[in-house]
Amino acid sequence: MTAAQGPRLRPTLDGIPTYKPGKPAGADAYKLSSNENPYEPLPGVLEAAVAAAGKLNRYPDMAGTELTAVLAERFGVPAEHIATGTGSVGVAQSLILATAGPGDEVVFAWRSFEAYPIITQVAGATPVPVPLTAGGDHDLDAMLAAVTERTRLIFVCNPNNPTGNVIHRAELERFLDAVPSDVLIVVDEAYIEFIRDPEVPNGVDLYRDRPNVCVLRTFSKAYGLAGMRVGFAIAHEPVANALRKTAVPFGVTQLAQDAAVASLRAEDALMVRVDALVEERTRVVTALRAQGWRIPDSQANFVWLELGERSQEFAAACAEAGVIVRPFPEGVRISIGEVEGNSIFLSVAEAFRKEL
Ligand code: PMP
Repeated sequence: MTAAQGPRLRPTLDGIPTYKPGKPAGADAYKLSSNENPYEPLPGVLEAAVAAAGKLNRYPDMAGTELTAVLAERFGVPAEHIATGTGSVGVAQSLILATAGPGDEVVFAWRSFEAYPIITQVAGATPVPVPLTAGGDHDLDAMLAAVTERTRLIFVCNPNNPTGNVIHRAELERFLDAVPSDVLIVVDEAYIEFIRDPEVPNGVDLYRDRPNVCVLRTFSKAYGLAGMRVGFAIAHEPVANALRKTAVPFGVTQLAQDAAVASLRAEDALMVRVDALVEERTRVVTALRAQGWRIPDSQANFVWLELGERSQEFAAACAEAGVIVRPFPEGVRISIGEVEGNSIFLSVAEAFRKEL
């Protein structure tokens, strides 16, 4: 009898880190670590979800018919161009599965959304991270230079997570038009509703004449439904159809679909909240700069402190004061949350700055 041995797992998994979400906050801590929306769902959104819960014995509408129709109308695109999924990270994974496998390459800026290299490797493809510029911008020339005949997909994160930097229209259009037409470019606009810089393009305008461009959106941030897990892509039919094949069947619950539809119908009220968060971002950025910090001009619902080796220490000081923030090797990302939590973070930042 041979010694008991476990099932053989794919060796490639050994090199893949487990996705690390922002630390859960204790009951009395402010959670500024996952770029969530601090506002709880609107009553009408909650009611829609609760009503759907009465039918939890049934599978959801796999085609997401109503949500797709409402999104199509909202964005002025054909319903066939919309594919929904289990959060935008689920859609991103389906996009990779639809385009890349072993031997293929996926190009993205780094540091950016950390799921990009993980889901690329899960698909068996090779991640090609291209360093951001010193100022935290996508280096689009370097990304273009990184494209080879093995490149199948490129992620462009606008605004970039975790720096908050944006790419302007002319620069992005030049890039999109320079990439070979058989490479899919995904413009990840998870934070688009927080942008106030008029020079930033809307991906929906960019994809229309470009069959190799796909827009990625989520209900997790501005719409405040992170816990529901619903995101979507807008792309031309071959790509959208491929997403319907590679998605996990029934991956968007009926609660999520109905809450998303109710959110779109309550968009005006939700965008008032987004305006308040943008105002709060201005307050935080202004205060940090007055303290002497040099920080990028964030167009998202977070700010970035480039603290390098001192990132963990800073995050620990914040935790001590009752706010959970997100350290990375290069810096710390702090979400714009409740006013009180933001203010606690600012006082930690002020004390820390004086010590630097
Ligand atoms: N894209 C970016 C740039 C993100 O920052 C995030 C979440 N942090 C996502 C996609 C995924 O969000 P979700 O799966 O909740 O839609």
